[in-house]
This record gives sequence, structure tokens and C-alpha cells, in this order.
Amino acid sequence: MEKEAAKIHIEQLREELNYHNHKYYVENSPEISDQEFDHKMRELMNLEKQFPEFEDPDSPSMRVGSDLNKEFEQVVHKYPMLSLSNTYSEEELQDFHNRVVKAVGNDFRYVCELKYDGTAIGLTYQNGKLIRAVTRGDGTQGDDVTQNVRTIRSIPLKLTGDYPGEFEIRGEIFLPLKGFQWLNAEKEKAGEAPFANPRNAAAGSLKLQNSSLVAKRPLDTYLYYMLSEELPTMSHYENLLKAKSWGLKISPHTQVCNSIDEVFEFIRHWDTARHELPFEIDGAVIKVDNIHLQQELGFTAKSPRWAIAYKFKAEEARTRLLSVDYQVGRTGAVTPVANLEPVQLAGTTVKRASLHNADVISGLGLHCNDLVTVEKGGEIIPKITGVVKEERPEKSLPIHFIKECPECGAPLMRVEGEAAHYCPNSASCPPQIKGKLEHFISRRAMNIDGLGAETINLLYTKGLVNTLPDLYKLKASQLITLERLGDKSARNIITSIKNSLEVPWPRVLYALGIRFVGETVAKKLAASFASIDKLSGATEEELIAVDEIGNKIAGSILAFFTSEANKKMIEELKSYGLQLAGKEETSISKASNILEGKTLVISGKFSRYSRDQLKEMIETHGGKNTGSVTGKTDYLVAGENMGPSKLEKAEKQGVKILSENQFLELIGEE
Ligand SMILES: [Zn+2]
Repeated sequence: MEKEAAKIHIEQLREELNYHNHKYYVENSPEISDQEFDHKMRELMNLEKQFPEFEDPDSPSMRVGSDLNKEFEQVVHKYPMLSLSNTYSEEELQDFHNRVVKAVGNDFRYVCELKYDGTAIGLTYQNGKLIRAVTRGDGTQGDDVTQNVRTIRSIPLKLTGDYPGEFEIRGEIFLPLKGFQWLNAEKEKAGEAPFANPRNAAAGSLKLQNSSLVAKRPLDTYLYYMLSEELPTMSHYENLLKAKSWGLKISPHTQVCNSIDEVFEFIRHWDTARHELPFEIDGAVIKVDNIHLQQELGFTAKSPRWAIAYKFKAEEARTRLLSVDYQVGRTGAVTPVANLEPVQLAGTTVKRASLHNADVISGLGLHCNDLVTVEKGGEIIPKITGVVKEERPEKSLPIHFIKECPECGAPLMRVEGEAAHYCPNSASCPPQIKGKLEHFISRRAMNIDGLGAETINLLYTKGLVNTLPDLYKLKASQLITLERLGDKSARNIITSIKNSLEVPWPRVLYALGIRFVGETVAKKLAASFASIDKLSGATEEELIAVDEIGNKIAGSILAFFTSEANKKMIEELKSYGLQLAGKEETSISKASNILEGKTLVISGKFSRYSRDQLKEMIETHGGKNTGSVTGKTDYLVAGENMGPSKLEKAEKQGVKILSENQFLELIGEE
């Protein structure tokens, strides 16, 4: 493609992708499928790679995040980022209203907004481009988290319309409940400790050092206050509507109230309606709308006098702690769970609460039979938030985290820097064995239909299945002898086990259930290591060289392959014919070193293979692909419609020019 044409095409793709991003993430009404979106994105990335001269940090392709680790820089806020004064009572809200009326009279309106339970952010736009994102910090200065914020899809990098030359817009970054549950499920699958609540998860995500990891977290935002020397209007509400027209995400629940009674109605409505929202809120914010009046009212040392936060009472209950159970997961992680005297909370009966890990127990200073406060947050299981020490029974003893596995008696281990305790006895600790089997057969792993947790439990207790390879020894006749299993379902299970032999290598790797090797990591590993033999032979350095693999994951992989039991298991799985190598491996082994040390440029249209296929051939024969012709280029593979300037440049530099057929001949594919 010629340079000018490429430039136009790149710009067009960027515009389209920005548009669809907005439709999807801001308006929640996508017009194209995810697949089409990904396709356009790949096309853009390919073009950008081919024409690096058109690189643009604001391109939608840059939203996948950077791998660079960054220390955050401190930035002084242009306008101090104060927090609001809080109230929990309607009387105090009435007092606030009376003070405002006394200062500025009766002729004004309020804007009521929801108070999101996330982390505050200040976004600065210059000439319509996002240039900075800063956390609240201490109110005077905060952390520059621009790189991470750029990965949040609902925050536009570029605006459209009549925006001022420079302005700041503040808002909240939060994790919707579904995203929070997904994130914690992912963490648990990888054997990591879950986040305590969506707020921590959002704040923690923003402070990640690696923005490509931030990009994977489904963070969202609502923006709620504009600051500028050149505000579009002197109404706070009108400014929000303006911001919305430029592409910024404004809450649809923001409401103008013409009297304090309407404000009361708003907060009473949301105190109950909040449970239907897909994200957590902890109250409402009430602001005087007119900005002249805001300025007249001014600030105290800590907060503005023209706004107040009304906080909903946390859904909390008091009850007795009866005992603490310890659950052992498939990776051996031990999770403490509190058994409580049943109590009513937010419309449900609560009998259990999560305690997460030993630090949470010691942090609470929990004793046996303590009276505790329980709160329901975004999680399914509520949590213990405090202990009523005055109500503690006499001589009650503090709760100490167990030292031995409750299931198999093995002494527990705790890796330095990790919150969770582990049972190291993976070979014979029952919940670990059953958990590994359940993970192995799950839909996203080996997808063995008909087998569920109950059947696995039966097979294990009857001594039929103890290890993963045992599944492949099963016979229908053995299954029929189990309770609840008929002839037909027994045969279905056997067929389904047989079919799992076709499951491809990356999924088999995931199914093995190596700690910290979730789906994404398994894919990355499988792409770099073509077979289980290559992976098990990899050194720590080789593992860490793979994108997204750090010390922790590498350590876990090395430990897995050092275990004699695991070595034996893998040999057995091999003998049953599981896909423990990628299918691509055969084509790679066919390749040669003919192009070793050679640099090639592919340009134009070809009749027999696509450009991507030709590029792949270059790589499998040891050569290197580049986008533009330089003095270092060895061959230019020229197709039809190639730009004359590239051809001319190649001739000038003395680069050998090959046709498609000549190239195929060279690598011996002809
Ligand atoms: Zn154990």
C-alpha cells in the first residue's frame, strides 16, 4: 500500500474504532460484533507496524497498555482535589440546606448524583486530548496514573465537538459488580487471594505497575465535575451535558432538584433502588448547580461549602461468631470461613462470612464467640468488619490460624509475600485431588461432559479415580456400578473422555491446574513452548522471557515439573494420547535456516499466498521481517501494486528484488 493511502486508511480505522469504543463502553449499545471490532483493530495494528512513521500515542491500538514498569510520578493538582463533607442523616442535610439559603438566598437549584464506591480521578484534556490522569492523593498532589487510565475503554482519549482548549474533569473509576466477581474468580482460579471489595479492586488496579494488566480489568468510570478557566456554561449540570456531547461518560442517574424536598426524594429512592444497580454506590452527592453561587459559597479548609455527600447506612448486622472452618482448594490454598449465628442482613439470612486469610483474622483481633459486625458488600459472601470488644465473653481465647491441613494433616506452608497458607500435600490431600479433577474436566479445560463434582466425588471415594490419568482408564462397566448412573450416561461419559483427546495443547496445559497458570498464561506459554517437553525443560530465564510471566509464575511452573508425581502423571497422560504438543510444531520442524541473518521486506499484493502467510514463511525459514526498505534489507519480495517509491528505493540501495515465485523457490517451497 502506498504511504498516502495507508495514512488515510489508518486515520479512518482509528476514527471507526474510537466510534465503536464509545458505542460499546460509554453508550452500552455496540453496533458491530466483538469479532468485527478485533478484526479492525488487527488491521490497524498491522498498518501501524508497517508504517511506523504514522505512530500516534492516541491511537486506539495503544489502549492495550504498555509493558513498561513505572514508578508513579507525583503531580500537583491545578485545582485542589478536596473531599466532600459527609452526613448520614436527613437533619444534617436540612442544616446544610439552611446554611446555603442563608448565604445565597432561595433562588437556586441542586444537582443530585450517585456516590460511586471507587477511586477518584482527575482527567485533564488539552485540545481535546487526554493528557493527564491523576489520583486524589493527599488532595494537593496525587499519582500520575495516565498510562493505566488510558486503558479504560469508557474514557475517551480524544474528544469531539466544541470543548474548551483546556479543562479538567473529575470522576470516579470503579469496578462494576460483575467485573469484580469475575476478577476474584480469576484470582481464585489462579490460586491467589481475592480482593476484599470492589473499591479496593479498583484502587489496586489503578496502581498496578504494568498497564497491560490494567487493560484486562473491566474498570469503568462516571465523570461528575468540570473545572476550567473557560467553562462552557455557569451551570454545573449544563457543563456535564456538554461533556457528554464531547464523548465523556456521564451518569444517566444525575438529576436536577428544585427544592430540598426533591433532594430527599432522590436519596430515599436510591437508598433502596441502589441494590438493582450493576455497581456499588455508598450514597448520593448534592451540589449547588450555579457556579457563580458555588464561588460565592467557597470552601472551608477541607471541603467545599456548596456540596455535601449523603451516605447510606452500611448494611450491617451484629451476630455471634460460632466457629471458623478452613476450606482447602484445588491448589492447596486454605481459606478461613466464619460460621455465624444466623442473622438477617439486606433481605437474606447470613450464616457464613469470609475471612480471606490469616492477616484478616489477626487484623480483626478475632476471639472465639466474639460479637461481630457483618457487612454485605459486592460479594456473595458477606464479611466481618469489626468486633464489639465490650461484648467479648470472659476468658475467650484469640483465634489462631491453623498450622496443619484440616483434610490431610500436613503442616501448612506460607510463601513469603503471599497472604494465603497452603497445604503442600498435593498428591494425597483429598480436596486438592478432587479439586484438580473438577478443574481438569471443566468446560474451558478438557470439557468432559456428564462428569460433575458429585460423580468425581463418587469416583474418588470408590477408589476408581485418584489422578488425572485414571480418568482415561475408566470403563463403562465400572461407571454403571456407581449409584445414580445409568447405562446411557455411563457411555456418554466414556465418549466424552475419549473426545477430550482432541482438546488442543494450550487448553490441556490449562487443565493441568498448575498454580498461577490460568487460561491466559497457559495460552502464552503454549505459544512459546511447542510441547510439554519443551516447557518442562525450560529454565527460569526462558520462562520469564515470555510475556506476562514473572518470578512467581515461573517458580510455580518449575516446582510443578520437579515433582516426581507430576512427571509420572505427564508420562501417563502422554501414553493415553492427550495433546501435549502443538500441532504447529510439525510445520516448524520442516522449516530451514536458509534465510538466517537475512532481512526481508514484503510489499504489494500476491496471488498464491497472503502477506501474512509469506511473513510466516520468512520466520520459519530463519529470516526477519521489516516494514521498510533500508541499506540493511537483503530481499524485497515484490507483489502487484507495490508503491513505485519503495521499488525505486530498493533499486538504489542495491536490494535484491524477488517475485513471489522466486521467493518460494529460494526457500524450497516450490
Ligand atoms: Zn491437605
